[in-house]
Amino acid sequence: MAEDAPVVPALPWLAAPLSRALETQTAHALLLHAPGGVGQFELGLLLAQGWLCESTVVPLARRPCGTCASCRLVAAHSHPDMLVLLPEALREGLGWAVADAEEGGEDKAGKKKPSKDIRVEEVRAAIALALTTSSRGRGKTIVIHPAERMNAIAANAFLKTLEEPAGDARFVLCTAAPDGLLPTIRSRCQAIALELPPTEVAATWLRTQGVAEPEVLLAGCGGQPQEVLALAQLGVDAAAWRALPGQVAAGDVSALRGWPLPLAVETLQKLCHDAASVAVGAEPRYFPSASLPREVVGLGGLLRWAAELRRVAEFAEHPWNAELALESLVEQGREALQTPRSPRRRGEIDSLHSRR
Ligand SMILES: [Zn+2]
Repeated sequence: MAEDAPVVPALPWLAAPLSRALETQTAHALLLHAPGGVGQFELGLLLAQGWLCESTVVPLARRPCGTCASCRLVAAHSHPDMLVLLPEALREGLGWAVADAEEGGEDKAGKKKPSKDIRVEEVRAAIALALTTSSRGRGKTIVIHPAERMNAIAANAFLKTLEEPAGDARFVLCTAAPDGLLPTIRSRCQAIALELPPTEVAATWLRTQGVAEPEVLLAGCGGQPQEVLALAQLGVDAAAWRALPGQVAAGDVSALRGWPLPLAVETLQKLCHDAASVAVGAEPRYFPSASLPREVVGLGGLLRWAAELRRVAEFAEHPWNAELALESLVEQGREALQTPRSPRRRGEIDSLHSRR
């Protein structure tokens, strides 16, 4: 009956990887990696919940029960044997905000911006927890997301714990960028790759979240459903996505105003990629064919735009003037997408072809 049924993950494509991981993984440190927006953090939490679950019903498809005292503590974010390390900047969005009193004091007055890093104090707190005795007798679990956001000092502190495993603690590191981790951390973790969910599964879930025509935005987001949801929360629907190439080709920056700069730059990179694909006779990947400018364009302009987009992407997390950067990128996009064909341009395209 209901009380014997295992937890159903909120992200339906996680059920199978969760059962598989709980059945087979024994390492004290796991590295869950997946493209962004696929649910590695949610899977990490479910794994931790599964390890701590006190249900006596065996084997519950090897998933946490969701109803025992331990599962309820996990759901309330107050399990004494579980710690979740997140950068301050992500906590609220992920529903793990910390009370002000707990967080406060550490940041010096005036430094309002929430940290994008996982700080060394937090890693030390995790290590301290790992060294204490388990309160409920099922060991400790520590979930770190995104693991590559541990800064150098934090990562080195954490590495020591991996080198000399402390007691009965288990760690789950979640990441979309395993290359951003110290190689010595990677090599001490058992890696689990989480695949992109099948389009139909992701599209069905997105519809339940109120996203219409989810296939359009799924293509736009490389099949990563949580990225689609983030776009939808910015007010971007399928129609807005289809309109975007035409707007950029017209030099209209308004559609991208209010987007975080990294996301705007990434989107322009996708548009640049697709325009270049069409220019060489290939299929676009992110935007519907019909939404892309027909009269493409000198490839030279697109390559210059691509180079500038790459350059700006490097500092997009910390722009000195996001508005100005965006306007400049869209203006270059307008030029790149609108340059009319001319014999010289065609020659340029031919020479690019022949170099391939
Ligand atoms: Zn349980």
